Amino acid sequence: MRCYAFTVRKTDVIVIGGGAAGLFCAIEAGKRGRKVVVLEHSERIGKKIAISGGGRCNFTNLYASAENFISENPHFCKSALARYTPHDFLMLLEKHSIGYHEKKLGQLFCNDGSKRIIDMLLTECSEAGVEILCESDVRTVNRKDSFDVETNHGPLATPSLVIATGGLSIPPLGATDFGYRMARQFCLAIRDPWPALVPFTLPRQLQQELAPLSGVSIDAIVSCEGYQFRENILITHRGMSGPAILQISSYWRPGLPVTINLLPDQDALELLRDQSNREVTLANFLSRFLSRRFAQAWCDLNASSQPLKRYTHAQLVEIAEKLNRWKIIPSGTEGYKKAEVTAGGVSTSELSSHTMEAKKIPGLHFIGEVVDVTGQLGGYNFQWAWASGYAAGQYA
Ligand SMILES: Cc1cc2nc3c(=O)[nH]c(=O)nc-3n(C[C@H](O)[C@H](O)[C@H](O)COP(=O)(O)OP(=O)(O)OC[C@H]3O[C@@H](n4cnc5c(N)ncnc54)[C@H](O)[C@@H]3O)c2cc1C
Repeated sequence: MRCYAFTVRKTDVIVIGGGAAGLFCAIEAGKRGRKVVVLEHSERIGKKIAISGGGRCNFTNLYASAENFISENPHFCKSALARYTPHDFLMLLEKHSIGYHEKKLGQLFCNDGSKRIIDMLLTECSEAGVEILCESDVRTVNRKDSFDVETNHGPLATPSLVIATGGLSIPPLGATDFGYRMARQFCLAIRDPWPALVPFTLPRQLQQELAPLSGVSIDAIVSCEGYQFRENILITHRGMSGPAILQISSYWRPGLPVTINLLPDQDALELLRDQSNREVTLANFLSRFLSRRFAQAWCDLNASSQPLKRYTHAQLVEIAEKLNRWKIIPSGTEGYKKAEVTAGGVSTSELSSHTMEAKKIPGLHFIGEVVDVTGQLGGYNFQWAWASGYAAGQYA
């Protein structure tokens, strides 16, 4: 009987997870002359980059600052963001002759599609001597003198282990809870994760009333828990989506009301009072500001439409209040299967903001979305992936 035994392969750095953060860290460590192996369990790297930003990858935001991130410690991300800025990433794009444009609000997208970013990362990896092993199954990680990593490619050992396995969002794209399991194994605290940048589902009656309007979009101010965003809301078959809803979803918790200002540029009471002696019906009047179908459906839900002159003053006050402050309580969200990101994660209290290394476990780093730092919509999540990857890559 023959006995096969893999010899342990030693390497300077192992990065688990070949997404934005992991690849960036690998490149930076490789540039320092470190021998780096990336273990990615999917058949290819960067699946989220590929589909991001509608296929054009909103790779950064010109105005990225700590205010654009959600974290138990809002100061934690400052150090990494200051040491690797959107302009640093733009210089990298220029080196690779990748064209980009600003869509709105500082959001930068590739001209030619996300594949250019993936190709750029692969080229940089190759120049930095980074080895990428796809279809890697990491079975166990143990720490003795070094980190011993058992994989289907055989055993590896390293003094520097970087966990870059992202969050729980979109399992078909390779998301797993591996990073959280690693944190637990090494007794590091985790802030309970929740789906963020995710569409809302609505209570049955509201959903049924609005479902026929699926596809209608409204410019509104949406607020919850002291945060507010002015962008579009999109009515969907199951509830509400669109940038304003995705943004506020990250701050929403089950049971909380969400307030929608349907007339963000108007004082609704002033408008209605000015027209209070007119024959025009409420629905017709509102269709000057909102889509006709939405105005009618909103009236059906909130105030049966009749000529404005028939409403009492008290009724107009009530209608105006609902137009400027329409309160809905979502029944939930579409969950991790539709969430663009996962909020929460490995507690920032466990990590050095300078090196992303676990304070209690020298040599173990966590970067990217697996950490309790979550960006708003608009390129911030990739900027965090690059910046945290860069920070760890200087020390791993
Ligand atoms: C549809 C969609 C669109 C998005 N668009 C944008 C956008 O335009 N701009 C923006 O800033 N952000 C966007 N995001 C968010 C952004 O993609 C993520 O925040 C970012 O990719 C996080 O990078 P990461 O490297 O931490 O994690 P990921 O990119 O998720 O990478 C983690 C990697 O680890 C691998 N992995 C997981 N478990 C294991 C394991 N056990 N063993 C080995 N490998 C493992 C995964 O396969 C994956 O390759 C979008 C997200 C989605 C889902």
